Amino acid sequence: MIAYLEHFVHENDSEAMLQQEDEEAATRLCQAMDLEGTIDYRSTAYAGKDFGGLHASTPFAVIRPSGSHDIASVIRFASQSPNLTVAARGNGHSINGQAMANKGLILDMKESSDAVIDLVHYADGYAVDVGGGALWEDVLRWCVSEFGFSPRSWTDYLGLTVGGTLSNAGVSGQTFRYGPQTSNVTELEVVTGNGDTVICSDTQNSELFFSVLGGLGQFGIITRARVLVQPAPDMVRWIRVVYSEFDEFTRDAESLITQSEGESFDYVEGFVFVNSDDPVNGWPSVLLDPDHAFDPSSMTRFENPVLYCLEVALHYSKKNCSATVDTMVEKLLGRLRFIEDTQFQVDLTYVDFLLRVKQAEKQAKANGIWDTPHPWLNLFVSKTSIADFDHYVFKKILKDGIEGPMLVYPILRSKWDERTSVVLPEGDIFYIVALLRFTHPYQKSPSVRDLVLQNHEIIQICARNGFDFKLYLPHYNTEDGWKQHFGDRWSWFVEMKSRYDPMAILAPGQKIFTRHD
Ligand code: FAD
Repeated sequence: MIAYLEHFVHENDSEAMLQQEDEEAATRLCQAMDLEGTIDYRSTAYAGKDFGGLHASTPFAVIRPSGSHDIASVIRFASQSPNLTVAARGNGHSINGQAMANKGLILDMKESSDAVIDLVHYADGYAVDVGGGALWEDVLRWCVSEFGFSPRSWTDYLGLTVGGTLSNAGVSGQTFRYGPQTSNVTELEVVTGNGDTVICSDTQNSELFFSVLGGLGQFGIITRARVLVQPAPDMVRWIRVVYSEFDEFTRDAESLITQSEGESFDYVEGFVFVNSDDPVNGWPSVLLDPDHAFDPSSMTRFENPVLYCLEVALHYSKKNCSATVDTMVEKLLGRLRFIEDTQFQVDLTYVDFLLRVKQAEKQAKANGIWDTPHPWLNLFVSKTSIADFDHYVFKKILKDGIEGPMLVYPILRSKWDERTSVVLPEGDIFYIVALLRFTHPYQKSPSVRDLVLQNHEIIQICARNGFDFKLYLPHYNTEDGWKQHFGDRWSWFVEMKSRYDPMAILAPGQKIFTRHD
């Protein structure tokens, strides 16, 4: 069987070979790997694509493992061949092929995971054990409906898997308070690149634990995570206010994220938008409800090409009367210096608030822009560089918008555990910048290639001007790029790789290490 795979991996690029194979071969492969789950090497095309739509590959086979045992078997099987690689695929929402394995084995984690396995006591609170391939939206629904609890730290969009976001960081408007999702797990079950199934935490096998968190899938496959939870609030007031000046926007956002709990909102984000009535890039992108409207005359007095929206949310209980909520909101907003008459708000359930991007997904699918390429760029930019970033990038290069959100909001470094694999800029506060570009099916200009080049230009501007920044969801094609990215963490990262995946079998789509014997 290995010999057959070698033949495929080395010599065969043609579809014809794939076509020739039959169920018998799948059965033989299953037996060779001792799989309880299934293997498919016909309907594999989906695993050769991702949300970014910029890269494509041809996997040899997709495996739907029935548990950690299968995952360990697949990795051991791959280790017996000199070339075969293995990639865990969460929901394939990477941009640059990170979950792909050309001519390798794809483990379809999403199809093989239970959402919530159990609620467990942790310290003086609770945690839930969730499958590595579970979608966060399923974790949310389960936790709230079964236990009345909810994880504390989220991403904006929840159609992502637990293992996929924990391999990066997982950030959203709650990160300022609780840290990223990688700071909200207390234990992991991991199948390493050696094929060992290991339980790890900050006290048990801690090097594996911290290297896997934010580890870009390089050290092992997360099959279970213990995620901290808290009682789920009932309701959320979701509010947007507008600023004309970047320094006022950042001053207020930073003041909100540095207040103690009870003295601030429960969620703080922000975004840049174009100072025009363009329906996608302009003022209408700020409105939360079809009944809301801008007074154009109040906006046209500003000559700035772009404006800034601070987005906040306050949790409350159904028992609170609306006057109490109004008073709390007024108190918190009263300290802020946004433009008068630019306050927009809606009340919704906590679950609906967390699932808010699902609506945007439905719309984008209907408009055909969910399946087109997404040349996204995500950066962490230090507070010391963010005003210059605004000057050079938002106000100049991106002044006409990107046909999607341009997120910018501050995060506290102290909420991140520096022992994980994630690398951050210096300083107490840094900003997440997310350029979430959408492209149209028959877009005339600019082409997707030009948008990718524009991303490179932005990175070049940051580098040339000495900005303190790191790529989030990083992507480099050269070892030098990765060395620079990790800086003084590079030798540690390489050491962990040699310990937990010495043959570089795992996550080849990240293009950090090359498979060897
Ligand atoms: P995949 O793309 O399938 O995999 C990503 C990497 O993780 C691959 O290298 C893969 O091999 C590895 N991997 C997957 N599963 C496992 C596992 N179980 N164990 C070990 N390694 C594994 N990020 C944020 O932080 N905040 C956001 O608000 C946010 N919003 C997003 C919205 C959209 C619409 C999209 C497309 C992405 C968003 N992201 C956000 C980025 C997202 O967190 C990452 O792209 C994440 O990796 C996607 O999860 P996935 O399950 O699709 O992972």
